[in-house]
Amino acid sequence: MPDYALVRRTYRYRIYPTVRQRLALEAQLDFACQLYNAALEQRRYAWRGRHRSVSLYAQFRELTEVRAANMGPTEMSCSAMRDPLRRLDRAFPAFYRRVEAGTKPGYPRFRSARRYDSLTWSGFGVRASRLVLQGIGHVKVKWHRPLPPSATIRTATVRRVAGRWYTSFSLTVSRSSQVRPAGKPAVGLDLGVLHFATLSTGEQIPGPRAYRAARRRLRVVQRRLCRRQKGSHRREKARLLLARRHERICNLRHDHAHKLTRRLVSAFGLIVVEDLNVRGLAAGSLAKQVTDQGWAAFLTVLEYKAAEAGTRLIRVPPGGTSQTCSGCGVVVPKLLSDRIHRCPDCGLVTDRDTNAARNILRLGLSRQASTWPMGACVA
Ligand SMILES: [Zn+2]
Repeated sequence: MPDYALVRRTYRYRIYPTVRQRLALEAQLDFACQLYNAALEQRRYAWRGRHRSVSLYAQFRELTEVRAANMGPTEMSCSAMRDPLRRLDRAFPAFYRRVEAGTKPGYPRFRSARRYDSLTWSGFGVRASRLVLQGIGHVKVKWHRPLPPSATIRTATVRRVAGRWYTSFSLTVSRSSQVRPAGKPAVGLDLGVLHFATLSTGEQIPGPRAYRAARRRLRVVQRRLCRRQKGSHRREKARLLLARRHERICNLRHDHAHKLTRRLVSAFGLIVVEDLNVRGLAAGSLAKQVTDQGWAAFLTVLEYKAAEAGTRLIRVPPGGTSQTCSGCGVVVPKLLSDRIHRCPDCGLVTDRDTNAARNILRLGLSRQASTWPMGACVA
């Protein structure tokens, strides 16, 4: 049994390109977008005409000719030019799958240069704390946290977000698959609409603070954008501001998820959550609240943080957890508006969500005993 497993992580940093570097980045993004669309056109043509597919490597070979003809920004690296072709190639398996399943396939679409916002380098350097990219230069990076010391950096992706620039390093770190430190308690977690999460200990965790205000500001900017004339300079300004607001909300959500999961995995040795079908829920009547709360993102972060910390994560099937009494097990029907659980049988009176969280914990513990061998990692 191996002691170490390699896991992939992404570390994101803000970068500050100079004006010249920014123009070079924009030129490379532009060209990458052109390559993407040209490669798509070629595949489209081959598919429509002869139902043939064009392979990634065939397109790589054609790229050699493009490079030999000196097209594209000067000094744009081969790896950066291959990136759009790779991305396009990744869009196809899903398409073929849909064709085979007989559902409406939806051919991969052409991309507009304005929305083509990121480019990945597999060859790059970090020198004197700057990110070195071929054809761009030495770009200043804000290292708000260090990269993990044992990491191997595989790629750097530069992304433009609402007029700001970021780089994401994709890296592999080895993590020890050691057994968790014993003696930490177990907890059940109920994700809710009123509170972000309720623990079986009775603690209620609110959603990200400042979130409500951020959403209000978002609405204000949305209205402003609508009022302004299409194609005008002022509309463009409002569009940029709106993108910033969206980014801000996304950041708040991420920050909240990271902090909360960190706290949970360091305090508990076993965490039980409901296996929510978030995509299903998001399509339903609770859609807005669900996407707002960002449960899917939270659960993803929780899963890998738990695995890293050696905390076990158990998912139990959802349903019935709020109706059952966590004290004696009888079913106590209640409406969505009933906030308090009152059991006529055993007399337990507790918060509705705390009751649900305790049921979730109990379900998890019973599963652990019956189906999971001790020491197995459920992640
Ligand atoms: Zn009861």
